[in-house]
Amino acid sequence: MNAAPAATRKAAATRLRADFPLLARNVHGKPLIYFDSANTAQKPAQVIEAVDRFYREFNANVARAVHQLGAEATSAYEGVRDKLARFVNAGSREEIVLTSGTTQAINLVAWSHALPNLKAGDSILVTTMEHHANIVPWQLACERSGAQLKVAPIDERGELIVERFIEALTPDVKLAAVTHVSNVLGTINPIAELARATRKRGIPLLVDGSQAAPHFKVDVRALGCDFYALTGHKLFGPTGTGALWARKELLRAMPPMFGGGEMIREVRFSGTTFADPPHRFEAGTPNIAGFVGLGAALDYLEVAGHESVTQHEQALLAHLQDSLRAVPGLRIFGQAAHKVPVVSFLIEGAHAHDLATLLDHEGIALRSGHHCAHPLMQFYGVPATLRASLAFYNTHEEIEHFVAALAKVRRLLA
Ligand code: PMP
Repeated sequence: MNAAPAATRKAAATRLRADFPLLARNVHGKPLIYFDSANTAQKPAQVIEAVDRFYREFNANVARAVHQLGAEATSAYEGVRDKLARFVNAGSREEIVLTSGTTQAINLVAWSHALPNLKAGDSILVTTMEHHANIVPWQLACERSGAQLKVAPIDERGELIVERFIEALTPDVKLAAVTHVSNVLGTINPIAELARATRKRGIPLLVDGSQAAPHFKVDVRALGCDFYALTGHKLFGPTGTGALWARKELLRAMPPMFGGGEMIREVRFSGTTFADPPHRFEAGTPNIAGFVGLGAALDYLEVAGHESVTQHEQALLAHLQDSLRAVPGLRIFGQAAHKVPVVSFLIEGAHAHDLATLLDHEGIALRSGHHCAHPLMQFYGVPATLRASLAFYNTHEEIEHFVAALAKVRRLLA
């Protein structure tokens, strides 16, 4: 991949930023600096307008009506399945289950794939850097089945110790669940390498893609994993949208998790037969407007171009890390060789929440806390960190303002 010249990258990033109306607002009388995109991303006008157009022009329920509006709503909704299939390079649209987000996608795999096959003595393998959404569903499945959770460790730099992960793939392991990118450390895990190891042993691999897809191209077939979970609101789409990609043969073997309308073939009081995947897993009226918005977000990302987004973000990451490393008493958590622009840190003598509150008064939004990753906080021996998480719409000027504001609020706390 040839890197575009810095000036070209900057011009492209400025053009994209102009599509995000919220980024033009002030907070506490200061221009907003939004460094919390790993929590939820801002939305371009194209997404906001797509949702607005849906409610103004073709709001109807999907797959239930023969009238024109119903046909238009269904075609838009099902069209998003096609877009998602293209987005992750799925083998077919039937491999895409539309969910409310990653959390629902992982729970679906835990309940419909893992639990029916788990028994006492079996294990599920996760890593130290997982979000609670990729820990707790497995713990619940383990509690019900008598299986146990195993944990593959990371090193101090925040990188998964791949040899230890591979060693942990013993015959009792019935599924491995790994995040593609850590929401706290920004670490990009070597999923293709992990998938080669799990595949060799016949162990399905689930990948939590929440923090990966907003930053770089995801290709599930090239990765070689078995399940891939996405959440729409971090992908510049509406909240309450997401997807599970799974290999067709795995979905076919899974019983439904929720019962209700639209997931059946025939219902009799004597028993019900179910629709084929993916509809078998999509009971009830979905977030139709949200998915229409997600479709617009995927179109937006395609036009923006993943390569130029990634290049700009890597330049932002280098700038941010270099600036933070120069701050005395500042400790960065996560020094992996391959990262997205997510940086967690603490400053000696200053509480993370105090710093975040003071930075908010400077117009800077960033998250402080455990980031839904208690075990990772326990690994580093801290209760919380501050996290600056950037997206392609952020700028080098914002980083400079942020670092200057950090020095200012630190003096206030001294
Ligand atoms: N996994 C990771 C790595 C995340 O960062 C998040 C969101 N913070 C989730 C899972 C859960 O996503 P959602 O709440 O959108 O389902």
